[in-house]
Amino acid sequence: MDDVSATSAPGREQELRSGLETVRARIERACAESAREPSEVGLVVVTKYFPASDVRLLAGLGVTDVAENRHQEAEAKAAECADLGLRWHFVGGLQSNKATAVAGYADVVESVDRAKLVPRLDRAAAERGHALEILVQVSLDGPDAEHRSGVDPAELLGLADRVAQAEHLELAGIMAVAPLGENPADAFARLREHRELLVSRHPAATRLSAGMSGDLEEAVAAGTTHVRVGSAILGPRPPVH
Ligand SMILES: *Cc1c(COP(=O)(O)O)cnc(C)c1O
Repeated sequence: MDDVSATSAPGREQELRSGLETVRARIERACAESAREPSEVGLVVVTKYFPASDVRLLAGLGVTDVAENRHQEAEAKAAECADLGLRWHFVGGLQSNKATAVAGYADVVESVDRAKLVPRLDRAAAERGHALEILVQVSLDGPDAEHRSGVDPAELLGLADRVAQAEHLELAGIMAVAPLGENPADAFARLREHRELLVSRHPAATRLSAGMSGDLEEAVAAGTTHVRVGSAILGPRPPVH
């Protein structure tokens, strides 16, 4: 397949470079305000809806971690970019029947929100022959929210225990998305408590994946170790159909 976007690659590369610079500067400023080191905050670039050619340019600009949220798109892009040595994070809603396939290319699955996924991911990781890093996604939504994404906080430890017991899964930490319509600082304050609870039981599960284009400063203040940033680097996504 011809890569038609290659004709505009220099312009696109410049756009991505400046997006990365802006976001890295925001992370540095937020770290300075919280007396944290920028090296404590990893950057995962969310490339969903953008072409593999952008992933390639990002890798050339020093990006090491990319995230996708739709299985088919992720699988195709990971295959096209297999030579780049990137770490692929899956951050989308995960259907049980897709878990095996996602474990085929993902290095980190950040959106594990129910026990049913655990044996499937474990078996797939065993077949692939290396451990799969898992983040449990915890819901920060109110109890009455229509679409809760993530496990109910009351079930966080039970799910984490399941992951930790799976032979080929490595419980790395916790992931969350701040709910729309709430001050992200308030939501991340709850997340901080969930994380402390998790680490008290699983001391190695210290990773905290929180903070996106609109709330990365609040996430840095709340102790995030990995921000997931898309549009502030790649530009606005095409509308979802
Ligand atoms: C799309 C997405 C992001 C990135 O969102 P931006 O606002 O574009 O930075 C982060 N996390 C998850 C789970 C996403 O689906």
